[in-house]
Amino acid sequence: MWPNKFDYVRAGSVDEALASAAGGGKFLAGGHSLLPAMKLRLDSPEQLIDIGRIPELQGISANGGLTIGAGTTHDAIASSADVQAMCSALASACGQVGDQGVRNFGTLGGNIAHADPASDPPTVLVACGATINIQGADGKRSVGAEDFFIDLFETALDDGELITSVSLPNCSDCQCAYVKFPHPASRYAIVGVAVCLKMDGDTCAQADVAVGGATVKAVKCADAEAALAGTTLDEAALNAAAEAVKADIAEDLIGDIAYPESYRQQMAGVFLKRAIAAAQG
Ligand SMILES: Cc1cc2nc3c(=O)[nH]c(=O)nc-3n(C[C@H](O)[C@H](O)[C@H](O)COP(=O)(O)OP(=O)(O)OC[C@H]3O[C@@H](n4cnc5c(N)ncnc54)[C@H](O)[C@@H]3O)c2cc1C
Repeated sequence: MWPNKFDYVRAGSVDEALASAAGGGKFLAGGHSLLPAMKLRLDSPEQLIDIGRIPELQGISANGGLTIGAGTTHDAIASSADVQAMCSALASACGQVGDQGVRNFGTLGGNIAHADPASDPPTVLVACGATINIQGADGKRSVGAEDFFIDLFETALDDGELITSVSLPNCSDCQCAYVKFPHPASRYAIVGVAVCLKMDGDTCAQADVAVGGATVKAVKCADAEAALAGTTLDEAALNAAAEAVKADIAEDLIGDIAYPESYRQQMAGVFLKRAIAAAQG
């Protein structure tokens, strides 16, 4: 199908992109969510503002923590030695997005702005306490990942605001992992679980856990975290956490005829155990 007619402008800088956005329209990054939506006439922006060649939005810098430009592709993140060292769960999540073609074009900024509940990176960003850096006509602001994702395809972005980068703490002293149950056709997450475990010898001093795919947005799982913290991650603790995570996501569950809510809820417990096993290597 063909999209409705639209105007096209290519922005050379963040300032140019924001100036163009004052006239309405949508930012175009990798186009892997926006263009299909336009072809299906689910979205019909009058103007596309191409942000794909803005140098300020590109690249990864490691300076204490990580700062990843919004225009950085999934493939660049997955293959970055800095991301692998400082947040291996994000490298893993980006490496599991779709297929190689999607990872070559899709960007981190586009992925989180779109806020598809089945996306992979948001689950890691919520687990690891990432910050989303935003610029708009009124200036710059930063929003914690947990507050950024509001509902299905809904974020804290206001009209005309641009995500410029995502900041992450250095998790190199933690055991981190992201595992998912991929949809057999699209590879989107039916259930995805991210864990970040801070160990003190054999004891888990702190556990950060988030679930996506099964829920309207990536959800931080406080009960599961509490069930893991202070334990040696023995079988009893893992079973308790697997039960707790089901309660954590109960209010936010989504499902469909193939993978109903109750199934996804059950799988979240299974995949939490797998994520912990993967994190422990
Ligand atoms: C076949 C297929 C399989 C996929 N599988 C997966 C998967 O398994 N896991 C997964 O996580 N994702 C998956 N995706 C989605 C993919 O990750 C895309 O990267 C992502 O959804 C959109 O990124 P994009 O750069 O293409 O954004 P675009 O499509 O260009 O834009 C998407 C939306 O974000 C807005 N936007 C873009 N950049 C910014 C910005 N910097 N600031 C503010 N708004 C912005 C746009 O205006 C638009 O509304 C898949 C996509 C396809 C086509």
